[in-house]
Amino acid sequence: MKKYFAGNFGVILVFVASLLPAIFWIFQESIGIRFSGTFSTFRSFGQLFGLVGISMFAVSLFLSARLKFFDKYFDGLSRAYDLHHFLGGLAFVFILFHPLFLALAYFSVTPSLALSFLFFPSTMAVNYGRIGFLIMFILLILTFYYRTSIKYQNWKLSHKLLGVAFFFGGLHSFFITSDISTNMPLRWYILILSAVGIAAYFYRTLLYPFSVRRYLYKVSAIKKIGDDVVEITMVPIGEKIKYQAGQFAFLSFQSNSVSKEPHPFSLTSRPEDDFIQIGVKSSGDYTKHLINLSIGDTAEVEGAFGIFSPEKSKNRNQIWIAGGIGITPFVSVARSLNWKNFSVDLYYSFKEDGDGVYLKELEEISEKTDNLRIAPWISQKMGRIDASKIKRVSDKIEEKVIFICGPSEMIIALKKDFINNGVLKENIFSEEFNM
Ligand SMILES: Cc1cc2nc3c(=O)[nH]c(=O)nc-3n(C[C@H](O)[C@H](O)[C@H](O)COP(=O)(O)OP(=O)(O)OC[C@H]3O[C@@H](n4cnc5c(N)ncnc54)[C@H](O)[C@@H]3O)c2cc1C
Repeated sequence: MKKYFAGNFGVILVFVASLLPAIFWIFQESIGIRFSGTFSTFRSFGQLFGLVGISMFAVSLFLSARLKFFDKYFDGLSRAYDLHHFLGGLAFVFILFHPLFLALAYFSVTPSLALSFLFFPSTMAVNYGRIGFLIMFILLILTFYYRTSIKYQNWKLSHKLLGVAFFFGGLHSFFITSDISTNMPLRWYILILSAVGIAAYFYRTLLYPFSVRRYLYKVSAIKKIGDDVVEITMVPIGEKIKYQAGQFAFLSFQSNSVSKEPHPFSLTSRPEDDFIQIGVKSSGDYTKHLINLSIGDTAEVEGAFGIFSPEKSKNRNQIWIAGGIGITPFVSVARSLNWKNFSVDLYYSFKEDGDGVYLKELEEISEKTDNLRIAPWISQKMGRIDASKIKRVSDKIEEKVIFICGPSEMIIALKKDFINNGVLKENIFSEEFNM
């Protein structure tokens, strides 16, 4: 129970915070009165959807704040981001139904009343809601339907404007005559939730240069270690970032070669090193330019984040599986681990001979200890790695903990496969390289 709660505490809290206004609402007036006829039923649904929608929107903004403690309460920052996207989408649906239900209520009186509610000029309080809704509508359509076809940076910029939509939504909920204006506990609750949402938004967007703690580093080496992989080494200008092997950080380079947009990368160096290192695969508009960085360029490093830490696991009988550049968190762990009592089978999957950019170094580490066995997995020759193939090499997989890092599709497929092969879900840990 305790274990279940540890990973899901944040998720439960987030849903409680989003749905609490519905409880206030239910106790505000008798349900019999609220749903006494067609008009009042549609109006009640409209109010309820608006209330829950704005609360979810606030909580979703809070989740975008990328705070360090999210790792602990959401079982990793990536999961907090997943929840942020899910709640944002759900808030959109609730907010979409808010005016629709109200329009239906007016429609049940006369259609012209519904038309005038939707389209005719109205009070400022109503207009705030219309503006917020319109901004949210346009931005979320962009977010959900065009995410794959617009550049990530443009998508992110449009996403940031959601705070403006929330601001207008908040004004609407405060100035309109509704349950929020008459029920004081509800009013205060929504006020606090909105303030938290707005504060998180300011913290992460407008105030980012001042509010978010970053460590300053200087690029000291740039080395091509594979056809499309570059290793970047940085030395601290001031205080060093503290991290555990397997964690990642957001890096923003101040350079003429790349944009300043922060991107997440696993640190491949050892926590005790006087430098930090990352290994980056050229996979898009940003990463392909990192090779052009210059010695002396500065890097702002935010973090560290992540709970992908094989060395923290109580069970030291482990299987590590890396897909391509997903090897990077394992590199840091392998470089820094004291192998005592560990027994690790590392499956390093890559497409063709020569793509295993860290293979040689890992094999050298493995030669020095009996506790690390490396199994290179060249997918072009050996096919996709799966649990049954792994079972032929590693015994008693159901007694081990499994760490997987790589592309999402690989992680999803392997998790399913391991569970079907008797491994408990809670014994599988993963790090996805997309947010
Ligand atoms: C926890 C974590 C650790 C990672 N560690 C490494 C690593 O060690 N080595 C490595 O090569 N790659 C790593 N990545 C992936 C790396 O961050 C992306 O490949 C890179 O940001 C893509 O940028 P791009 O503009 O070149 O590619 P694009 O084609 O523009 O983006 C590809 C995808 O990367 C994601 N992405 C792009 N920009 C950002 C951003 N600013 N913030 C968050 N996600 C973004 C989006 O999902 C996008 O769809 C890691 C990702 C995560 C989430």
